[in-house]
Order: sequence, then C-alpha cells, then structure tokens
Amino acid sequence: MIESFIPTYTFHHYSEVTPEFLLSKGICAIVSDIDNTLVTYDDEQPTPELLKWIDSMTKAGIQISFISNNTKERVRIFNIDLKFFARGSAKKPFKKYVLCALDGMNVDHDQACLMGDQLFTDIWAGNNACVRTILVDPIKDRKNPFTKFKRRIERAVLRRYEKKNGKK
Ligand SMILES: [Mg+2]
Repeated sequence: MIESFIPTYTFHHYSEVTPEFLLSKGICAIVSDIDNTLVTYDDEQPTPELLKWIDSMTKAGIQISFISNNTKERVRIFNIDLKFFARGSAKKPFKKYVLCALDGMNVDHDQACLMGDQLFTDIWAGNNACVRTILVDPIKDRKNPFTKFKRRIERAVLRRYEKKNGKK
C-alpha cells in the first residue's frame, strides 16, 4: 500500500529535471501538476523561467500536458498561450485524466511520467495510472495548518520508505 505514494524519482525543483535525464529513461511525455509544482498559486501564467524550461523540453521532442485539481478556469488561463493538453478539476489521485493526457499526447504508459509536489494526489494518481512519477518540493507552501500537517505526514511516509528500501 505504501508503494502507492512513493515516487520513482525525486528532485528539489522542476528545473533540475532535464531533457537529457528524461530521454535517458525513455520518457518523452510529462503529465504535470501546476500549483506549487511549476508555479505558485499566485502566478496566473507561466513565469519566464518556466517558459524557458518548457521550451527546452519541446525542443528535445518531449511533450507536456497539465492535470490540476484546481479549477478549469485556472488551468485555462495558465494554458492559454501554450495550448497543451490540459485539464482542471482532475480529481487526482484518480487516474482518469492522467490516462486522458496520455491519450491526448498519444503516448504509452512507459513513455510518460507524472510530475507533482504532493504524494497523496499527484504521485498516487501517477502510480494508479501506471506511469513513472517525479516528486518535486512545493515551490511555495501555503502556510495553513492543514497543509503543514499534510506535509509532515508526507515526509514521514517517505522517510519510512527510504529507511526500509534505501534512497532511490
Ligand atoms: Mg500541486
């Protein structure tokens, strides 16, 4: 059961995920979360830094799509210029829209990865959809008590797993 929440790869920030790394793992498509994975909740649109990263991916032939549990309107505005496959109200950890994104990009499970900042929504959704997963640190945590509590549980789950299995 604990395996459901364990990411295949971990990075501190999306910018550390390079085209070279993904291609070396046979990955040519990313299904990415938006909030706190690529931008903060306050950024309505991709930042210049993010656009550069996206550009490096697309130039290397790596497709990107967005799956967010935030509203459809948030996702629409974020994706307005990029026009990637994107879906709001995605109800992660359910796998339905992750699979839709794979369809949308026309790739198989073993060619794709899901990237996100939360174990219990993003990583679980990716594992449910049988794609590899990348966990990144949240860009900017909301400071409310529930989020802090959730982060504590997430870190405890990861630590327990790493102790048992060694760091990946
Ligand atoms: Mg997120």
